[in-house]
Amino acid sequence: MEVSIMGQSSLYTFTGNPFVDAGIWAICEWSGKKKPEKIDLKDLSELSRDVVHIYLTSEWAKSLYSVFPNNAVTNPSVKNKDQKLLESLEQLIGQIELLDGGGESGNCIACGRHDVQEIRTKTEIPLIGSGTLINFFPYGQPGADYCPSCTLAVQFSPLVFYACGKLLLLHSNSEKVMHYWAEKAIKDIQKQISANSYRGCFDEGYKNPVNALFHIIEDIILQYEERWVEENPSISMYHFTNYNQGPDLDIYRVPTPVFRFLAFVKQSEQFSEWMKIVRRGYFNWDKIKEGDEYKNKGNSVYINLLKGHSIVKYFLDNKARQVYGDWQLLEYYLTEVRNMSAKRLDTLKKVGDSISDYIKDTQNIKRLNQLEMASNFATFRNLLQYFANFHLLINEAVRYLYMG
Ligand SMILES: [Zn+2]
Repeated sequence: MEVSIMGQSSLYTFTGNPFVDAGIWAICEWSGKKKPEKIDLKDLSELSRDVVHIYLTSEWAKSLYSVFPNNAVTNPSVKNKDQKLLESLEQLIGQIELLDGGGESGNCIACGRHDVQEIRTKTEIPLIGSGTLINFFPYGQPGADYCPSCTLAVQFSPLVFYACGKLLLLHSNSEKVMHYWAEKAIKDIQKQISANSYRGCFDEGYKNPVNALFHIIEDIILQYEERWVEENPSISMYHFTNYNQGPDLDIYRVPTPVFRFLAFVKQSEQFSEWMKIVRRGYFNWDKIKEGDEYKNKGNSVYINLLKGHSIVKYFLDNKARQVYGDWQLLEYYLTEVRNMSAKRLDTLKKVGDSISDYIKDTQNIKRLNQLEMASNFATFRNLLQYFANFHLLINEAVRYLYMG
């Protein structure tokens, strides 16, 4: 555990709680501190003053209805909103100052390091219920046990949310992913400030959360040079609203092999081919005319990747007899994402090679389904039967080898 120069334990370390960690990232990026352990009280005071200005602009206030219902910004009966909001943030900072410096264990359910001073409600912490939903909490208490420093961090979390119909919150164990993500969101807000034109949470026009998630990940991989294939992050995305009349939450998890595959796509110089494959996942792509319309159309390539279903059929257009990407791309997908063993892949390739040779030798470019029926192909038939489940796959592999 890092210790500050004051001899006290640090105010923040990452907690694993997505809302608290989002807030910690917002503080880090805003203050230019590289690590949460470096955050000090001065950073918190400065950011508090800055967010009062930002949150009270009408566009941000609109976003905040679905984050902090009934707080100083969103409760219409509160007068002097700027003063009230600053007071509530400063009160939390005051409570942080009182935290026991030596404490490395406390009863906060987010960090487990600091003690709780007051029970928190959904006005301060999204999605915890409270009020009439008291059954959610032990002993029927009217809120949740968050310490002041975690509660304060959550107040800053909207700075790194993403507008997507509801709001989107990204959470990853990869500090690289989170750093680049938070940096992008904060830069967007800083642009809003310097242009004096406020738009609310970072918004790139997406309403479809799955498309947004892949856009965010692909953007990070493409824009920043890192050894992403080796990063192996787990990434979760929370698509939520804490709106008073109907709080709601959908959680999406990106399988680590899918992230690795996307990173590989970038390295393999197959990116434009990959984009063609992705495009085939949009329902009625041909009818998408407007430049940004695709952002909100469901995409079955992305959906299948998240669900762990195969996307092999999108590598091949049967009708047009066209393949997308090279064998290496398909091979990587089959090995990394579909977990196909090297042995099985090798057999698959051998079958494909042999059939391909046969076609070349006989100059017979008939459909492969017919080929399977050929009686002098007993050996291959046995193999194909052995791989019955991979029947489609074999066809596709063969076409790759033959056409590529
Ligand atoms: Zn805490």
